Amino acid sequence: MWEPVWRAFVLVLALWASAATARAQEVCEETIARYSVRRDGPDGFRVEAQFNRPVSRLDLFYHSPPGRPEGQAASIRNLRAFSARGREVAINYVGEGGWEVPGPDPAWRIAYRIQADHDAVDWTVGAPGKDEVATRFDRTFYFAAHAFFLADFDWPECKIEIVFNLPSGWFVTAPWSMRGNVAWTYGVQNFERNAFAMGLDTPRRAHTGGLDLEWLIDSRARAVEPRVLELMNAIPVAYTEFWERAPSRRLTAFFLRDARSDGGAFENSFTLVLPDPLAAIDQVSWSHTLGHELMHVWFGPEGIRGDAGGELSWFNEGFADYLTIKLMRRAGLISEDLMAQRVANIIRRYELGKRMSPDISLAAAGGDKLRNWQLIYGGGALVALLLDAELSMQHPEGFRDMMRSLAPISGSAFDLNSLTSQMNESTAGLARRTLAWVDARPSAGEIRARLARSGVEVSLYGPDEVYVGFAPCPALSCAPAFLAGPSPSPSN
Ligand SMILES: [Zn+2]
Repeated sequence: MWEPVWRAFVLVLALWASAATARAQEVCEETIARYSVRRDGPDGFRVEAQFNRPVSRLDLFYHSPPGRPEGQAASIRNLRAFSARGREVAINYVGEGGWEVPGPDPAWRIAYRIQADHDAVDWTVGAPGKDEVATRFDRTFYFAAHAFFLADFDWPECKIEIVFNLPSGWFVTAPWSMRGNVAWTYGVQNFERNAFAMGLDTPRRAHTGGLDLEWLIDSRARAVEPRVLELMNAIPVAYTEFWERAPSRRLTAFFLRDARSDGGAFENSFTLVLPDPLAAIDQVSWSHTLGHELMHVWFGPEGIRGDAGGELSWFNEGFADYLTIKLMRRAGLISEDLMAQRVANIIRRYELGKRMSPDISLAAAGGDKLRNWQLIYGGGALVALLLDAELSMQHPEGFRDMMRSLAPISGSAFDLNSLTSQMNESTAGLARRTLAWVDARPSAGEIRARLARSGVEVSLYGPDEVYVGFAPCPALSCAPAFLAGPSPSPSN
């Protein structure tokens, strides 16, 4: 019974992959920049770059942690720029990770040293964590590309090449296309918004869910390796099937260790930071974080495209979190009890969010994500849960079909209005009504009554005590069917 479905699915993937290749070729085969990377002493790298068009401004990402006001730029040393005729031209640091060529003669070539000294600073203060900057572990140097490669962020979607001239025995673990020691990608976005690593440690590889997966684990996190292996094999299959597409043909992951857990999603790579100390019970939380960060890769690097000022954070975070619960259960990766606890967490988070972020809509809350964390994650996931519960009463895959209609990884740009309009189209207006209902701050009793109609039973005491159970339901139309799917694989 599954055979034809599976074959159709493989066909869709193949078509999508060839369409993606065609698109990339249409865009621009011209190699706009060619970088070369070589080791420069025990603590650094030498980077040279040649450009196929004149450059007058180059950037890195910029964060300003205490003790390093210039952030990532502080690790760039001896930057020199050269004109088309090979004459050295001035290039000045202008602040916030930017350099400019002040004279009339633009740069066609640059050279610099990057000092791998990022671990001297705590990047969790005033910055998003070392996973989004750089660190060292074992015999590996890890970097976010936007902390390593100076680039013109306005380059068109052309080919960018990176030649790694590293000592023998060194591996490059990177999400770009790669042949031998040469990597390439299209567009500065995919070039800069990715993580990569260089060193003597060898990555693991797998092919699953239409993806070539590659990952590297810090030896201090080796205890998690069996579970990582299980999740990396199963989650992409579940996500690719749900979305009916893979986000890219390559996906690279890094597992680091630090004082506290963290995670960063890039264009087709992501990094999970596992907490220290790491107990067996922590698997419950980091497995979910892994699923959540992976889901962001399917949504797109910064969520669905076009999220100006965070007005779609409730969707990007809440829907990613909800789908992580639903699809990990479907894949048999979490038990029904854990699923129930996670659904209870959604409601608890929303109840706390109502108190911590009074008088603000979900869309407006995204303007200050840290302050309104509970409302954004809890409220967004509650909208997703309600939509899935209610759409599933009409059609078992109504929610999935609505999500597919958004095709977030195909490059559509959305704002709040166009996103909710698109969601409305396949839901006869239910999407916007549900968002408005959650924005109107329903009482815990009202949430309980509304979910009960779909078989999600909720018991509450105060704002922080929430229990969830699922009514027995013979049809596909109610929970846990819509959450876990009609025939979930047994949990193992
Ligand atoms: Zn997230």
